[in-house]
Amino acid sequence: MTAATRPAEHPLFGEVPGDISVSFEFFPPKTEKMEAQLWDAITQLAPLSPSFVSVTYGAGGSTRERTHATVARIARETDLVPAAHLTCVGASKGEIAEIVDQYWEAGVRHIVALRGDPPPADGGKFVPHPEGYTCAADLVAGLKARHDFDISVAAYPEVHPDAVSAEADLDNLKRKIDAGASRAITQFFFSTDAYFRFLDKALAAGITAPILPGIMPVTSFAAIRRMSGNTEIPVWLESMFEGLDERPGPRALVAAVAAADLCKRLYDGGVRDFHFYTLNKAEQTYAICQLLGLRPKSIPGENAA
Ligand SMILES: Cc1cc2nc3c(=O)[nH]c(=O)nc-3n(C[C@H](O)[C@H](O)[C@H](O)COP(=O)(O)OP(=O)(O)OC[C@H]3O[C@@H](n4cnc5c(N)ncnc54)[C@H](O)[C@@H]3O)c2cc1C
Repeated sequence: MTAATRPAEHPLFGEVPGDISVSFEFFPPKTEKMEAQLWDAITQLAPLSPSFVSVTYGAGGSTRERTHATVARIARETDLVPAAHLTCVGASKGEIAEIVDQYWEAGVRHIVALRGDPPPADGGKFVPHPEGYTCAADLVAGLKARHDFDISVAAYPEVHPDAVSAEADLDNLKRKIDAGASRAITQFFFSTDAYFRFLDKALAAGITAPILPGIMPVTSFAAIRRMSGNTEIPVWLESMFEGLDERPGPRALVAAVAAADLCKRLYDGGVRDFHFYTLNKAEQTYAICQLLGLRPKSIPGENAA
């Protein structure tokens, strides 16, 4: 090979200094086995010192107790900062007040405030509870009035499917920030262009709060399609996963590489805060953080004799 055709010596992840901050999202477990898997993931990821770890709230409020139990256990048994997801679905303002009072009493200070979707069985459009909050901005204002929570909200680089326009969706995000949210976390995406364009538009609309990219390693293509809403799934991504439906091992490795590549391109564009949808598994998220140069603050057993 001549010098002219030889590839340059620039490993993609060669000199990433790890000057990033990460947060991790989990879902509340349904069974004892899933509970063990969740705690294994939390234990493995905790040394990466996430700025917070959040626990989702099932569609229609179906995991109210489980979300609370998981968040309360994180608060009680770890040094991590827990964040509880909460939605407006199927609850009156009074019921939401009870839930958040319990969080406040358990020492939880961070809420991810969402409108939520109706349970799949109910299908279709979100209908507010007759005595409930009508949208996430309304919920943020209600939470802030009750306790001085640190609040995160959702953002959609490729526009929420219910929005009448991209501008209306951005106005809605601004209302959530103005109501007291201190950051937004995005729906997952695969186009760095879509994310950076969204950041530019948000800034132009006067939104200065951080907008953390939500990173989703692909574990199942069918699930990604189901959850994608308006998120474009590029043809190249689909072809990366071609033939891997029945091969979970290689699929997980390819997913980690694809997500790490997305993160590296975001990093090169100046992003330093990353939110990972872990799906209660540590390996992929840990590997991506490792490639971004992040190292554990304390390695369990390292100093053991
Ligand atoms: C990071 C993240 C975490 C999530 N976690 C969960 C979870 O734990 N549990 C869960 O059930 N779901 C969760 N979701 C999904 C979320 O609940 C859905 O996407 C839901 O459809 C919208 O919630 P929102 O908080 O963005 O709603 P909102 O911000 O209220 O907006 C929803 C849509 O309605 C429009 N809209 C809002 N108010 C008005 C108005 N007054 N007039 C006209 N249009 C309006 C907005 O433009 C937007 O298009 C999460 C999403 C993200 C991105």
